[in-house]
Amino acid sequence: EKLKTSLAKTRDNITGKMNEVLGLALTIDEDLFEELEEVLISSDIGYETSMKIIEKLRMKIRLEKISEVSLVKGALKEVIAEFMAEGGHDFRVERPTVILVMGVNGVGKTTSIGKLAYKYKAEGKKVILAAADTFRAAAIDQLEIWAKRADVDIVRHQEGSDPAAVVFDALEALRGRKADVLLCDTAGRLHNKKNLMNELEKIRRIIDREYPEATIYSLLVLDGTSGQNAVIQAQEFQKVAQLDGIILTKLDGTAKGGVVLSIKEMLKIPVVYIGVGEGIDDLEDFDAKAFAEALI
Ligand code: GDP
Repeated sequence: EKLKTSLAKTRDNITGKMNEVLGLALTIDEDLFEELEEVLISSDIGYETSMKIIEKLRMKIRLEKISEVSLVKGALKEVIAEFMAEGGHDFRVERPTVILVMGVNGVGKTTSIGKLAYKYKAEGKKVILAAADTFRAAAIDQLEIWAKRADVDIVRHQEGSDPAAVVFDALEALRGRKADVLLCDTAGRLHNKKNLMNELEKIRRIIDREYPEATIYSLLVLDGTSGQNAVIQAQEFQKVAQLDGIILTKLDGTAKGGVVLSIKEMLKIPVVYIGVGEGIDDLEDFDAKAFAEALI
């Protein structure tokens, strides 16, 4: 399926190196564990996360008295699947829900909002978009194009206007049109953290005041092709914003999909959706187990 195809490069990257290491190993010893750890680190899984996974592998091999090198790959696959399955998320989109979407320029924020609008609409929900990233006119126009593609309404003001005012109007529309979901395109800048924090807090206050029944989620969009840098970027956002989930884009065509494991371990924020292409239906619910299966 799509997930398997999308992760092909990541899988080839990890399994290629892994097979090389396992092919040369004669016994399961400390050298082998260290080499496998290197494989994980070089696959964008990150240093700390790789150490943790290899530690779990060591334990499993000891407990299950595994002594043949040929069984190590299967054991590692199980360890990764278990690691991924811990946690999970309770992200539910029921009326009324407001989703604040953030992320720096170029990560695929606008595209992801368009895909989400399309997805929720296909589920029978009434969706409205709010163009609350008012910093660039082009961003507003781009969002409008996606609104047309997904065939949903959009609330927009002029470039440079107050994002909170856009959200205020969009909340009126949400209530007035009895819509289910409001998707807000919010700030894409990180260089002015204080401003960003104030802006996001102001938006939340307005939602709390104007539509207290609404569930608010904030999702951060990260570019899967940036590997470990995505983790660093998310940590910066965590300093200024409350984050409920991650949308990880561009997993198709990158060998750095291992970053998913790192995100889980380092950020403690669930990956909720993954982007697997440029098309409007190239967004998938993140399924940890299926992901682990497709990874190795
Ligand atoms: P924004 O600046 O964050 O709003 O980014 P855009 O939504 O404009 O996307 C930037 C580029 O990434 C565009 O060329 C998109 O087509 C592309 N893109 C977004 N998501 C995906 C994805 O999941 N896979 C691929 N291959 N490309 C994507």
